[in-house]
Amino acid sequence: MSNIRSGFAACALFAFAVLLSEAPDRAGAQSPTEDQMSGEIVVLPVLFHIAPNPVAQVDASDGWLAEQIERANQVYRPWRIQFRLFDAIPLDASHAHLVSRRDRHMLAEYLRRGVINVFVVESMQDVDDPSMMRRGVHWRYPLDERRHWTVLTSIGPPTTLAHELGHYFGLRMHTRVRGNIMSYEHGDEPWLSQYQARRVQAGARRFLRTLELRPFDRIEAHVREHGALPDWPPVRSSAAELDRAEARAERSARLLAFRRRRRRR
Ligand SMILES: [Zn+2]
Repeated sequence: MSNIRSGFAACALFAFAVLLSEAPDRAGAQSPTEDQMSGEIVVLPVLFHIAPNPVAQVDASDGWLAEQIERANQVYRPWRIQFRLFDAIPLDASHAHLVSRRDRHMLAEYLRRGVINVFVVESMQDVDDPSMMRRGVHWRYPLDERRHWTVLTSIGPPTTLAHELGHYFGLRMHTRVRGNIMSYEHGDEPWLSQYQARRVQAGARRFLRTLELRPFDRIEAHVREHGALPDWPPVRSSAAELDRAEARAERSARLLAFRRRRRRR
């Protein structure tokens, strides 16, 4: 009896897991449930680091930044998460064109704690396929996974930040559902499914707990009191450690590409 019951429980669990894992693909635009609507709206601070970009000419006062934030707010507002520009500071011109993994890792030294760090650069090459240029990316420092950030290129559409924030808060996968913010075809009014929103909310709660992020007003108070944003401890990794991490990342990218090719056959 207990075997039957545990077998049933295992099946039910499996079915539940399948349901959850497929939810983002099946679900259309959905309204929040009551518990997702309850509680305060959390306003998270965004710090832009802007490299000189003579083609698009995005600068700190530019409407481009405001539009990226506004579009992200449209997507996340029903789920009680909002973003607000905290500051936009210049980034050295040596980071304007990102080609290699190392180029992206180098941005770690500029990270500030408590805010969402967004780097705006002129161009970014795909690290696995040099024939492709990227509009945005969510990137982790390989030797300290708590340090992560997003990069936007100034040619990205206004919804790029909203998409990369999905990755930032824990949505690893893309979906093929047209119109969803995690699809490559996210259209004019992108949205999150309930399943995705739950994961994003859990990610935001986790970051607030670990002080990786702080609400906008707390960060403002911190800067008033201390004169600067909180820092991460200095990046201490050696070039050799980064080399090894990059070699590992390249090996797993090659393996992934190989598996994809084999599945297509
Ligand atoms: Zn993506």
